[in-house]
Amino acid sequence: MAKPKVAFYWCASCGGCEEAVVDLAENILKVVEAVEFVLWPVAMDFKIKDVEALQDGEIAVSFINGGIRTGEQEHVAKLLRKKSGLVVAFGACAHLGGVPGLANFSNRDRIFDYVYHKSPSVDNPERIVPQEKTVVREGELTLPEFYNTVHTLDQVIDVDYYLPGCAPPPDLIMNAVEAILTGNLPEKGAVLSPDKSLCDTCKRKVTKPEKTVIREIKRVHEVMLDPEKCFLDQGIICVGPATRDGCGERCINANMPCRGCFGPTSRVDDQGAKFLSALASIIDADSEDAINKITDSIADPAGIFYFYSLPASMLKRRLDI
Ligand code: SF4
Ligand code: SF4
Repeated sequence: MAKPKVAFYWCASCGGCEEAVVDLAENILKVVEAVEFVLWPVAMDFKIKDVEALQDGEIAVSFINGGIRTGEQEHVAKLLRKKSGLVVAFGACAHLGGVPGLANFSNRDRIFDYVYHKSPSVDNPERIVPQEKTVVREGELTLPEFYNTVHTLDQVIDVDYYLPGCAPPPDLIMNAVEAILTGNLPEKGAVLSPDKSLCDTCKRKVTKPEKTVIREIKRVHEVMLDPEKCFLDQGIICVGPATRDGCGERCINANMPCRGCFGPTSRVDDQGAKFLSALASIIDADSEDAINKITDSIADPAGIFYFYSLPASMLKRRLDI
């Protein structure tokens, strides 16, 4: 019997999601045995024309990681959608926009100006910037369009399932692969991770006093962190109350607070707003000055609250630039 065809593709992301596949360790052999890869540019030599030659729907599942930042990413995502029975948004950037989505606080012109002119490590006296079309003796060279805004995958194509995380952990990946291979799938649109908050299962939860109050906010390098105690109770921002469970508390176990890579639960529309509301409810101050002093001590609040989710949020991007 023919093996189900599978594609992996990498859009605007760091590449950690591709490494997560390698993190399957010996389980990757089971996957390789069970499926036929038809596109996996980071690991194998396939061409887009090979995918174009497939029948519509012939690929059983495409795992696409990364947000959509360029015309080429949008083109391949749309091609894979057409050729695939299922599309899984793989990892935080495809799911929510992720860290590359923080660029939505800026715009294309500002990014290019910094990267090609102002960055201290740049030496570009002729002020050359990449062009979409360049004519050389041999003909015309083209580069994909660089969009002004980073989009989540489901803002560009229809997505069947979401595998959350930066990067998704191996157990969730294997569960998803097994569910797809056996057809034992949840409702379309499901995030393939438990629908409860990280705080619900965090072992530090038991150390939380009946009412957590914050009078001062610190950064992790400014305090000796108690490895048993809830971060919020130590005055450290931890986005656990606004984050979906399922990562195995990877950061918490390494004595670092959660930054929210699993995104929110299904009951939350905007992860940053949810965390802002959770934080506001525990700030203990009795005057406007005292409140301002505490909130001013949060370095880059928008960046922290929307660390992984700005493109998926109600805000989507900064509008005044
Ligand atoms: S706020 Fe962070 S440390 Fe505290 S219980 Fe929630 S996930 Fe754990
Ligand atoms: S603790 Fe938070 S940021 Fe860290 S892996 Fe889990 S969900 Fe992601």
